[in-house]
Amino acid sequence: MTILEHKPETAQKSDTAIFSHLESEVRSYSRGWPTVFEKASGSWLRSEDGKDYLDFFAGAGALNYGHNNPVLKSALVDYIMGDGITHGLDMHTVAKRKLLETFESHVLAPRGLDYKVQFPGPTGTNAVEAALKLARKVTGRESIINFTNAFHGMTLGALSVTGNSMKRAGAGIPLVHATPMPFDNYFNGVTEDFQWFSRVLDDAGSGLNRPAAVIVETVQGEGGVNVARPEWLRALADLCRERDILLIVDDVQMGCGRTGPFFSFEIAGITPDIVTLSKSIGGYGMPLALTLFKRELDVWGPGEHNGTFRGNNPAFVTATAALEHYWADDKLQRDTLRKGERIRQTFMNLSDMFDGVSTRGRGLVQGLVFENPDDAQKVCSLAFGEGLLAETSGPSDEVVKLLPPLTITDDELEFGLNILAEATAKVRS
Ligand code: PMP
Repeated sequence: MTILEHKPETAQKSDTAIFSHLESEVRSYSRGWPTVFEKASGSWLRSEDGKDYLDFFAGAGALNYGHNNPVLKSALVDYIMGDGITHGLDMHTVAKRKLLETFESHVLAPRGLDYKVQFPGPTGTNAVEAALKLARKVTGRESIINFTNAFHGMTLGALSVTGNSMKRAGAGIPLVHATPMPFDNYFNGVTEDFQWFSRVLDDAGSGLNRPAAVIVETVQGEGGVNVARPEWLRALADLCRERDILLIVDDVQMGCGRTGPFFSFEIAGITPDIVTLSKSIGGYGMPLALTLFKRELDVWGPGEHNGTFRGNNPAFVTATAALEHYWADDKLQRDTLRKGERIRQTFMNLSDMFDGVSTRGRGLVQGLVFENPDDAQKVCSLAFGEGLLAETSGPSDEVVKLLPPLTITDDELEFGLNILAEATAKVRS
């Protein structure tokens, strides 16, 4: 279509012409969900032609508290209507003070964590870049250990520690100073996981430069819902401590309660040196990211890492409201584990019933794994037809990954699981 052929003023409902005409081919989610969304509330989105979709993806984990959550919305609306600061660079503001106080009282103090908080820029990849830069500055070393099937973001530093070959190729230059090691269960439990890692660290002939840091996800979301066992995480933390290597946990997708506890590493009882948070920390789907690090690692000079959009004050307000409302007690955590167990039961039944189907997950990130990646795609597209948004993940997109809002009701969960069960039965029988 040429520019003359496209007449925006005549756009009809469900008209997607402007997207294919003007928006880059890089768009992706819109291909699996070919409709035009207009409104959203809780666990539901509505397209402009009036069809409702249950959201089992929750903004890739950015909407743990659902769409347009009323508690967060009213805090946001009050703030905007009261002419609160919107754009604040890294100036002191009332909204930022409240967020820091609440983060300390509701998240850090109850867990005995003495972290400093950096606002690295609005996205997850910003938080990862800051973490890598800081680890290199603190240690004076260059290389980073990452893991097979890791995902840490799209900017060059974060991409260098990301596994996916298609995404890496997008860099267009060599991605250097990162060495991948096998994630937990990479060899299906056949080989002792740390044999290779500890051996090359200690072998002066291994060719591995002494790393500044190890960066790890406790559950690899994009990489296919690969779950690290608590004992594996503990062994990794021990290895890092013994060898004076910093441990970075990237909690961008699995933090903010996705796996149950606020931080996904709590299950292992470890204290990472550096932690990245984004996605649901803003609460309302508002861009916000934090890089947390042990107090003694705060070697930044003023302005050494900066960014125009580090002071998204409306996001500070919704983040504060989310922490106050959902993290004053352990109700959300308990509900998350209960609902996760409900999904796991359904997925276990499906894997018992059908060959070539298995399951793995933790809390409200659960994967239905298909031996044949085409089947996972088919299940998601059948589900879309029935009004359910679910996405695939994994190196071959072989995993149907469930990330519903943590606030989803039991009935909604049941409704979506029925759709997925029927879609799986259709595809596998
Ligand atoms: N780290 C992890 C673990 C992620 O899952 C993601 C996003 N999927 C990122 C970093 C990058 O976050 P963003 O897309 O906000 O840059």
